[in-house]
Amino acid sequence: MTTYPKLKMLIDGEWLADGGDGSMSVSNPATEQTIGECPKVSNEQLEAAVSAAAEAFPKWAATPGAERHKILRRAAELLRERSPEIARIMTLEVGKPTEQALAEIGSAAEIIDFLGEEAKRQGGRLVPVRGPNLLQQRVTQEPIGPAALFTPWNFPVNLPAKKLAGALAAGCSCVLKPAETTPACAQMLVECFVDAGVPGGAINLVYGDPAKISEHLIKARAMRKISFTGSTAVGKQLGAMAAQGLKRFTAELGGHAPVVIGKSADLERTVAACATTKFRNAGQVCVSPTRFLVARDIYDQFVSNFASYASNLKVGDASKDDSVAMGPLAHAGRVAAMQDLMGALGGEKGEIVTGGAAVDGPGHFFQPTVVAGPSADSQLMTQEPFGPVAGIVPYDDIEEAVRIANSLRYGLAAYAFTADLDESHYLGNSLRAGMVAINHFAVGSPETPFGGIGDSGFGSESGVEGYLGYTETKLVTVAKSGG
Ligand code: NAD
Repeated sequence: MTTYPKLKMLIDGEWLADGGDGSMSVSNPATEQTIGECPKVSNEQLEAAVSAAAEAFPKWAATPGAERHKILRRAAELLRERSPEIARIMTLEVGKPTEQALAEIGSAAEIIDFLGEEAKRQGGRLVPVRGPNLLQQRVTQEPIGPAALFTPWNFPVNLPAKKLAGALAAGCSCVLKPAETTPACAQMLVECFVDAGVPGGAINLVYGDPAKISEHLIKARAMRKISFTGSTAVGKQLGAMAAQGLKRFTAELGGHAPVVIGKSADLERTVAACATTKFRNAGQVCVSPTRFLVARDIYDQFVSNFASYASNLKVGDASKDDSVAMGPLAHAGRVAAMQDLMGALGGEKGEIVTGGAAVDGPGHFFQPTVVAGPSADSQLMTQEPFGPVAGIVPYDDIEEAVRIANSLRYGLAAYAFTADLDESHYLGNSLRAGMVAINHFAVGSPETPFGGIGDSGFGSESGVEGYLGYTETKLVTVAKSGG
């Protein structure tokens, strides 16, 4: 029996169950039942969190990198030890099947390990001097300062882990505001950092109204770095506020990932990879493949095999049934968004091959859906679906496929499947995105940068970039005294 934890904020090293602004309910998207009450932070409490982060910053920044690494390594170990319980809570909060929840937590622990190790590796560099009077030019990466971190609900452990680990490894203190729907996952993650030895004030956790909290934190003079993962619309608003204070800003926003499937691709393997990845987390993944562009020779077969996979997928409440492959959408708004998308289909805008409707009964379930032949200007092909819907269109030549793939302002992930070496190079070079994967979908490894371009945001998380994003560059140049 899984017990939902008592929700508490963490401000200046103290766990607080009372929110100055009252509380809000948290519900299970598979049953729509309330599972907990979450305190809502007041302006005074937010101010206390900002002051705590500001006060803790110099001491944490001065803690040797090797020490910060040890603490982060311990946090990753605790996260692994606690992963079965955290996975159960994740299934309650977002409906994620256990296997996917455990994989997410395992990957979060790896990211914490990797970014923690960077604290030992990033020593800066020496630059050769130009004249005999100069003794040394050294360039170092200094922690920026207190960071405000905003994370969504679709990867409720992994996304906060990336931001917390990057910030803490680099020596920044932070205030985290996780999604309203997944506070317990964030709290259990933060507990790992605290229990591992991150000092009071260096890590703060608040819950409540997102717009109020982000405005307060971004405008607070002490906060120097803002990192947001969420929609493009909100990212633009927060970016504009950050710009007013000339604060460094990282934004991981929406995407509408194309997948170009060449006629030489191994059809069976490609369909299996595409369909599995498409419906992972009910399609609520920023790098989810959403626009499938398939060589006309294999198009009919691809659509039929993909639809067959989708219609056989077991959808349900993963907390009650281990064989469930796809859970609910995060909240009622996501189901309404899918229904809007379906309403805009028909004729040239695309035909539903399978799925296309919400599932009857309690819970925010939507059928795995495959749409064939949507036109380039259809809503499905131009707006991020962020749900279990795949649009599949045929193309005649590879240049046309690249043109369609690159036609949107989004540029997060792009994929291609081909056994043709020349085509593989051409696609790798010409697909416009922050991340391009050929013949697989794994763009989220701890060692590699994760981030987009255009309307998908800027800056990268994980990889060395996930550490450097919390630092600023400093040059120290020394000449001979008297010379
Ligand atoms: P939403 O914009 O209402 O919420 C998404 C997230 O943004 C939530 O966690 C919310 O707390 C946060 N948020 C919203 N307004 C905010 C503000 N003013 N300040 C700080 N945080 C704020 O949308 P939704 O319907 O819940 O989610 C769907 C949309 O969100 C999709 O379009 C998708 O692009 C985007 N999204 C993206 C990611 C990602 O990984 N890039 C993750 C989740 C959601």
